[in-house]
Amino acid sequence: MTRPGGVWENWGRSARVRPQAVEFPGSTDAVQRAVQAAARKGRRLKAVGAGHSFTGIAVAPGVLLDLSDLTGVVSVDRERSRVTLRAGTRLHQIPRLLAPFGLAMQNLGDIDRQSLAGATSTGTHGTGARFGGIATQITAATLVTADGDLLVVDEHQNTEMLPAVALGLGALGILVEITVQCVPAFLLHAVEHPEPLDDVLATLDDRAASNDHFEFYWFPHTDVALTKSNTRLPESAPRHPLPRAGKWLDETLLANGVYRVVCGAATTVPAIVPPFSRLAVRLTGDREYTDVSTKVFTQSRTVRFREMEYALPAENVRPAFDALRALIDERGWRISFPIEVRFAARDDLWMSTAHGRASGYIAVHRYWRENPTDYFEAVENIMTSFGGRPHWGKMHTQDAASLRERYPRFDDFVALRDRLDPDRMFQNTYLERVLGA
Ligand SMILES: Cc1cc2nc3c(=O)[nH]c(=O)nc-3n(C[C@H](O)[C@H](O)[C@H](O)COP(=O)(O)OP(=O)(O)OC[C@H]3O[C@@H](n4cnc5c(N)ncnc54)[C@H](O)[C@@H]3O)c2cc1C
Repeated sequence: MTRPGGVWENWGRSARVRPQAVEFPGSTDAVQRAVQAAARKGRRLKAVGAGHSFTGIAVAPGVLLDLSDLTGVVSVDRERSRVTLRAGTRLHQIPRLLAPFGLAMQNLGDIDRQSLAGATSTGTHGTGARFGGIATQITAATLVTADGDLLVVDEHQNTEMLPAVALGLGALGILVEITVQCVPAFLLHAVEHPEPLDDVLATLDDRAASNDHFEFYWFPHTDVALTKSNTRLPESAPRHPLPRAGKWLDETLLANGVYRVVCGAATTVPAIVPPFSRLAVRLTGDREYTDVSTKVFTQSRTVRFREMEYALPAENVRPAFDALRALIDERGWRISFPIEVRFAARDDLWMSTAHGRASGYIAVHRYWRENPTDYFEAVENIMTSFGGRPHWGKMHTQDAASLRERYPRFDDFVALRDRLDPDRMFQNTYLERVLGA
């Protein structure tokens, strides 16, 4: 978000910059003109979505292209359930745009504030061992390249680039149109329970395999996991949404309002964290309901935090989680945010955290006013020792040398970046670190 004074800041308040210029192109032509003008002036340029990445991946010191005006449906292929959207469309706008066609996105992450382009460019994912992240749902894209030309990547043209462009880290060009493979609109039956953590860990593989979408949260300093198991149902199935009061209690009061106060107080009195965590797991998370998919997949998150998330080979989730649990016990930190564990299917996108392997994700968070460095550093050591790959939009300290070892197609991606952006129009400090100069 750009603040008065022209300073742009991300949601987690972990990255900020004062761009030389901010532009709001409302059409593909306007994006092309902005890129050409920046090239003439020798300025760098970056598109920014909702600023929900915790890393500096969206930092735009030159020209910041805010694509909030580049939204909506371009075309619909009803036969194949494919919908082409303008790249700045926010995920929360998509259900309304797809409704007239009886379609939905196949899987989503925890929230829907992100732009479609930003979400796909960083490998945003939800959970479900049979389902990939958002980028795996992309079947075509149109980009404005560094020289201002249009590059169409689809099943007929430049098809070999799709596995790079669908998850392009903002390094290959400015996405202006994105085609999403949708599915018929569906409901989710959600079952959310507190359960003994050890039981959940002992049956983790089964749960991940037997549920459409399984995840769990563990509040450190408790021995309880909040499990979420979602089953896909046809749109015609009966809906049993959460009553408004229940939804408000769980999501507005406990998950957000009271939580903000506790997190704030815990920065000066860390000792309140364990009893609060025990209370939180007793009060929340025991509910069952059926609603349209997007309402079940996504929640609102208003307590600001910083996050690190690592993708692991699915079989390493259990040992990595055990090591993380032991670490927290050993170090005596008071961690007020739960640890989140999710799953995803293997895919073949070059820079996907799930490239070539069925994956599990472990995410750690810290309230934004707390310094996350010690915690995240120690967690990162564990995750990398279990073959982890960091989420591109979440905090980590990897660089091109360590990432090259973790991504078999790393050099192919860098070669494509060199071809499409030889003068580094779309480069910033983060991309220089993770892809090399
Ligand atoms: C509260 C919260 C919850 C989250 N939950 C999840 C979750 O459940 N799962 C998950 O995987 N992640 C999650 N994230 C991370 C988030 O989904 C990603 O960081 C995502 O990239 C943010 O999208 P954005 O629109 O804000 O993109 P930004 O952060 O603004 O940008 C991300 C990247 O996309 C590029 N980009 C944006 N638009 C374009 C364009 N038109 N063309 C080319 N490049 C472009 C930017 O240059 C940058 O490189 C969460 C983040 C927050 C703050």
